[in-house]
Amino acid sequence: MAPVEIAEDYPDTLLFIGGSWRSGTARIEVIGPSTGEVIGYCAKATISDLDDAVTASISGFHIWSATSAHDRAVVLRRAADILDSRAKLIGSQISAEQGKPFHEAVGEVLYSAEVLRWNAGEAERIYGRVIPCRQSGERLMVLPTPVGPVLALTPWNFPIYQPVAKIAPALAAGCSVIVKPAEETPAGAAALIRALHDAGLPAGTINMVFGNPDEISSYLIASPGIRKVSFTGSVAIGRLIGARAGQALKKATLELGGHAPVIVCPDADPVLTAQLSAAHKFRNAGQVCVSASRFIVHHSIAEEFTTAFVEATKLQAIGPLINARRVAAIDELVDEAVKAGAKLAHGGHKRPQVGFHYPPTILCDVPPSARIMQEEPFGPVAAICTFDDLDEALTIANGLPFGLAAYAFTDSSEAAELLINGLQAGIVQVNSFGLAYPEAPFGGIKDSGFGSENGIEGVQGYLHPKYAALARP
Ligand code: NAD
Repeated sequence: MAPVEIAEDYPDTLLFIGGSWRSGTARIEVIGPSTGEVIGYCAKATISDLDDAVTASISGFHIWSATSAHDRAVVLRRAADILDSRAKLIGSQISAEQGKPFHEAVGEVLYSAEVLRWNAGEAERIYGRVIPCRQSGERLMVLPTPVGPVLALTPWNFPIYQPVAKIAPALAAGCSVIVKPAEETPAGAAALIRALHDAGLPAGTINMVFGNPDEISSYLIASPGIRKVSFTGSVAIGRLIGARAGQALKKATLELGGHAPVIVCPDADPVLTAQLSAAHKFRNAGQVCVSASRFIVHHSIAEEFTTAFVEATKLQAIGPLINARRVAAIDELVDEAVKAGAKLAHGGHKRPQVGFHYPPTILCDVPPSARIMQEEPFGPVAAICTFDDLDEALTIANGLPFGLAAYAFTDSSEAAELLINGLQAGIVQVNSFGLAYPEAPFGGIKDSGFGSENGIEGVQGYLHPKYAALARP
């Protein structure tokens, strides 16, 4: 297991409303996953705090949407530089609250700064257009207009990246935001809010609350002041948030779970593919929505691939899972797969130690009926099954209601083309596991949700194309 940086000065997190920090009337424990002990607290918002946050976000929207694109970009770039300068401190706090190794946490902070920078540039490229007109003397225009105050609901797996993936494009577009980060990992989000505030973001433009997620989301989605909701999390909660947004007629972006297939063709290099797979699979202890989880390997190279995967996995150092609930869920999925006929090639069995650890685990010969082949594991488990021809591989890959990420490895350009076209997923990568880049759209199809984060599509999600016609009087 990788060493987790214990931040000696792990901070308590307050609410941030209307440009100032406030403590609320109650607080929520933050548990460090590497020890299972309380490491700090975050403040719990009351209904009156939520009302204040809505009022603040409305006045923040008036100021920020009237701020020039150039000036918005300046603030976002300044916040990015601040994050860079604080990366080690913030990284240690994220490592303590979320459990990922320190170097991964610092990488997350630096990447979040890049997201701010890229969206700053995008703020300056929000162009409208002029439509050639049927009538002389008339001008038809499309004016991209910020949708209004946004509610951002973010999960715990990337404590600073998940909030910035919503906040940066929303601010670039000219929207104000109320963010409710995961109560499990408040410090990463608070560090982002602090950087934006220190960079000169006007009061009310960004607000942060914590509390009971269900109460907060139902209250704020219904609030007439909120114009859009963006949620990242499980399919089940995504359905609930989508239904609430529909009921209130609010725009919604939903970035939900996946169960990413990896098709390894007979002409792929089994050893290199296995090494890349191990590095990708166990990042953030597998708690990544695009994490490869179903390895569909051609039977002719399955043995060589599995052996190399196990060897490469022995070199991976991972942190704990976020909580005891996730450890129990992974343990149950692995036990059930073994009972269904899968073989344990590596790992398995939770360890009797403090904190929420589960070892990197590889299952092979996993039958399609095993629950792990249907349910997103969201943890450090890889399930391997085999195929005979590409049609069969695509049928297995596309056989679930998810459609977030899909991967394939092949040496054939013909097979690559077929796989890019045939894989039903919002993100398809051939011969690499790549990363989420600020400039590339990220989002799923089917039950994995709708809307995109990152890319020009990310900012578009916070804009309304206002149609304006101007005729000569
Ligand atoms: P969960 O669905 O209970 O919670 C996920 C997130 O949603 C948490 O941050 C939580 O605070 C929030 N949430 C829960 N109920 C809510 C509600 N009624 N209103 C608003 N927000 C709410 O899942 P979990 O047990 O914390 O995590 C496990 C599952 O969540 C995984 O299996 C995975 O599918 C999903 N997940 C996905 C991502 C992602 O990046 N897509 C991230 C974290 C978790």
